[in-house]
Amino acid sequence: MSMLSPKITNAFCSSCGDTHSLALEPALHAAKILMGQLEKKKHINLDSDSTIPPQELQTDYLYGKARGKMFGVLVCRTRDGKEVVLKSFSGQYNGIWEIKGWVSPLFDVQKFYRLNNPQEKQIKALGREADNVSISAGTRKNLLQKRKNLSRQLMKNIHALYKLHNFRGKQCSLFDLFPEGKGIPTGTGDCCAPKLLNYAAIRGLQPLGLAEFYWGRTNKSATRHEGLFYPACQDKCGPILGFLLCGLETKEDRCKN
Ligand SMILES: [Zn+2]
Ligand SMILES: [Zn+2]
Repeated sequence: MSMLSPKITNAFCSSCGDTHSLALEPALHAAKILMGQLEKKKHINLDSDSTIPPQELQTDYLYGKARGKMFGVLVCRTRDGKEVVLKSFSGQYNGIWEIKGWVSPLFDVQKFYRLNNPQEKQIKALGREADNVSISAGTRKNLLQKRKNLSRQLMKNIHALYKLHNFRGKQCSLFDLFPEGKGIPTGTGDCCAPKLLNYAAIRGLQPLGLAEFYWGRTNKSATRHEGLFYPACQDKCGPILGFLLCGLETKEDRCKN
C-alpha cells in the first residue's frame, strides 16, 4: 500500500512569526494500532462502557451515506515522563460530539446545544414558511433573507464558543486567527489536529508526534482513502495550527536541558 505520508505538520504562527512543526513518525505506531482496533472491533467505543447506545458507535456508519472520516493520534509525554496516546475523530461521530476515550471539542458541548438547538429550529421554521408562500411574493424574499441572516448570526455565535489553547499557555478565539471580513470555514477547529493539540495544551502534555488518517468509504471526490495518512487541511487548519503549536519547541528544549 502506498502511503501518502505527510511526515511533518508545519504551520506558520502569526503570533510569534515563526513556523512550528510536529513530526508524524513518533505517532505512526499508535495510529496503526488504532487502525487495527477499528478494523477488528468495528466500533469506536474502545476504552469504556459508554452510555451511548453501541449501535451509534459502529464503524458501519463510516461506510454508508456519510462516508469515512479522519482520525488522529497524538503521542505525548506527561510531566513525569510517561507516554500517553490521545485520539480524536474529526467533527461529530454519527451526530455525537463527545465520546469517552476520545478528546473533546474546542467548545463546551452543552453550551453548543443550548445555543444551536433553538436557533436551528427557528431557521428551519422560516424555511418551511418561505416554502408555503408563492414564489413571486415579496414576503418570500423577506423570509429567506431573514433566514440567511439568522444562519449567519448562529454560525458567528457558534464560532465564538471555540477556545484555542497553546503550549505557551495562551488562549484565543477563532476570530483572532482569521482576518476580519474573511469568512471562517464551517468546521474550523473540528479537525483531529486542533482537537488533539488543544487538549494536550490544556493538560500540560508535551506532544511528540501527530498522525491523521482516513477511515471508511472513500470520500466523494476520491481524495481520501482508508488507511492512508494525510497532512492537515489548508483551508480550516492552515490558519489555526500555527497558534496551536506555538510554544512546543521551547518546552521540548527545556526538557532536554
Ligand atoms: Zn483540518
Ligand atoms: Zn508561535
